[in-house]
Amino acid sequence: MRIGFGNDIHRLEPDKPLILGGVEIPSEFGAVGHSDADALFHAVTDAILGALALGDIGSHFPDTDKRWKDAESLIFLREAIRLMKEKNYETENVDSVISLEKPRLHTFIKKMRENLAKELEVGLDQVSIKAKTGEGLDAVGENRAIKAEACILLSKT
Ligand SMILES: [Zn+2]
Repeated sequence: MRIGFGNDIHRLEPDKPLILGGVEIPSEFGAVGHSDADALFHAVTDAILGALALGDIGSHFPDTDKRWKDAESLIFLREAIRLMKEKNYETENVDSVISLEKPRLHTFIKKMRENLAKELEVGLDQVSIKAKTGEGLDAVGENRAIKAEACILLSKT
């Protein structure tokens, strides 16, 4: 068994898309980043790479590389999953937290879980996504940032 942890934060700005777990969320504010800034996919990608001790998302996909400008974060996640399979590991379960002041995410959680479960080739009951607000505190609470954290457990196939 191997455990991995990943986290990610992106700045929020008006008139930008907000994409989380591959789902576009209707929102006044969207995430700013070199790629499509999908904080949840980035955190899960980093958790997988971390579990394998293979560095982090930045070392595999540097934001100085034009190839990843506005890239769909699914590319990063799929590469981490490819490496996981190459090392003969599979996912036991993933748990995650998205911290965002608004909008409330509960209606989008199931679709995000389905997207992650499909990519990781696991059941829905192996993918947990929780949504929290920042209680008005710090960058998340002030609606200036979106944050995601993820833990993943892998086992040998
Ligand atoms: Zn990110």
